Amino acid sequence: MFDNLSDKLDKALHVLKGHGSITEVNVAETLKEVRRALLDADVNFKTAKEFTNTVKEKALGQNVLTTLQPGQLMVKLVKDELTELMGGETAGINLSGTPTVILMSGLQGSGKTTFSGKLANYLKTKKSKKPLLVACDIYRPAAINQLHVVGDQIGVEVYSEPENKNPVQIAQNAIAHAKQNGFNVVIVDTAGRLAIDEAMMTEISNVHKAINPQETLFVVDAMTGQDAVNTAKAFNERLNFDGVVLTKLDGDTRGGAAISIKSVVDKPIKFIGTGEKMDAIDVFHPARMADRILGMGDVVSLVERAQEQFDEEEARKLQKKIAKNQFGFDDFLNQIQQVKKMGSMKDLVGMIPGAGKALKDVDIDDDAFKGIEAIIHSMTPKERTEPAIINGSRKKRIASGSGTSVQQVNQLLKQFDQMSKMMKMMQGGGGRKMMQAMGK
Ligand code: GDP
Repeated sequence: MFDNLSDKLDKALHVLKGHGSITEVNVAETLKEVRRALLDADVNFKTAKEFTNTVKEKALGQNVLTTLQPGQLMVKLVKDELTELMGGETAGINLSGTPTVILMSGLQGSGKTTFSGKLANYLKTKKSKKPLLVACDIYRPAAINQLHVVGDQIGVEVYSEPENKNPVQIAQNAIAHAKQNGFNVVIVDTAGRLAIDEAMMTEISNVHKAINPQETLFVVDAMTGQDAVNTAKAFNERLNFDGVVLTKLDGDTRGGAAISIKSVVDKPIKFIGTGEKMDAIDVFHPARMADRILGMGDVVSLVERAQEQFDEEEARKLQKKIAKNQFGFDDFLNQIQQVKKMGSMKDLVGMIPGAGKALKDVDIDDDAFKGIEAIIHSMTPKERTEPAIINGSRKKRIASGSGTSVQQVNQLLKQFDQMSKMMKMMQGGGGRKMMQAMGK
C-alpha cells in the first residue's frame, strides 16, 4: 500500500537528518520534496499546498529546545498533519434506527456490491446484527445475481424483486420486509453507471429521499486517484453522504484519494476494502494510516487481527498437546490456517514497522504456505501424529504426492523438529533451558 509515496516521503524527511537545527532553508527544502511526493501520489494540488504550508508554520514555530532532533520533529509534524488531513479521529458508523438503513452509492465497478456484502458480514460477525441485503439495480440482472451469490457466501438474506422496475418501491418494500422479519440493518445496494449521469443521480437521490437512511456511504475505487475525488464531489453535492468507503487499497494504489478526499468533500473515510474476499474490510483509522504511509507500520491493526483469530480454547488445547509432546503436523496445519485467516502475507508484512520498506521488493506471495500445506496433506494421519516414522521411502512418496522434492520434505521435517523442541522448552523451565540449548 502506498509504497511509492512512503519511499519518497522517507527520502524527503531524510534531508533534515543531518541537520542540527530547523531553519527556514532546510524546512523549505524538505517540504518541497514532501509536496512533490504528495503530488506524485496524485494528491490534489490545493491539498498538497495547504498541507506543506501548515507543516512549515508549525515547524518554524517550534521551540528550538525541543528534545526531538529536527528530522524526528519533522516526521512527527508530517504524521500529525497527515492524520488530520485524513479526518483526525476514527469516524464510526451510525447504527441507530430500527432498522438501521444504509444506502450504498458509487459508480459501477467501484466495488459497491462487494462492499455491501463485506459490511453485512462485518455487522453480522462483529456487531451481532441481523442484516438484510437489498438489490436495487433494476438494469443489470447480473448485478442482482451477484448480490445473491455474495449473500449465500456469508449467510445473509438478500431481498430482490427482479420484475419490479421501480428502485424506490423495492427499497421501501425491503424495509417493510425487514421490519416484519426482525432484521435490524438494511443495506441497500444501488445501480451504478460507468460515469456520472443525470438519470443515475436522479434515481439514487429519489431512493435517498424515500428511505431517509441513517448512513449513506459513497464507495470509490482508490486506484482512480483524482477521479475518485471528483466523483466524490459530484455524489456529495446530490446526496450529502455521511462517509466514504475506499476500495481496492490492496492494489498498487498511489494514495492520493485516501489523502485528499476528506479535505475536498469534508466527509470522513469510514471503511476501506483491501481485497476481494468477504473479510477484506477494515475500519479506517487516520492515525494508523498515517503511520503506514510513513513506513512506521501499523502494529495496532496487526495485533487486533491476531486477537480476532485467537481462540483461547484452542490455545489451551494446544498447550496441553505441546506439554505432552503430542504436537503433530495436523496442529501445525491448523496454525498455518490461523495465520492465513489474518489476511494476505503482503498486507501483514506491511503492518510491521520498517518491514514494509525493507521487504518491498521481495516477492511475498500468499502461496508461501502452499508447498508446506501440500506436503502435510500428502502425509498419512499416522505420519502426521508421529513424524518419527517418516523414513526414506515415505519421504519419496510424500514428495511425489505433493509435487515437491525429498529435499523440501526433509527441510520441513527439520523445521518441524526444531520448532517442536523449542516449544517444549518454552513450556517447561522457560527461557533458561532454551538459552542453555542455544549455547548461551
Ligand atoms: P460494483 O459494480 O460497484 O457493485 O462493483 P463490484 O462489487 O462488482 O466490484 C467490481 C470488481 O472489483 C470486482 O471484480 C470485485 O471483486 C473487485 N473488488 C471490489 N472490492 C475490492 C477490493 O477491496 N480489492 C480488490 N482487489 N478488488 C475489489
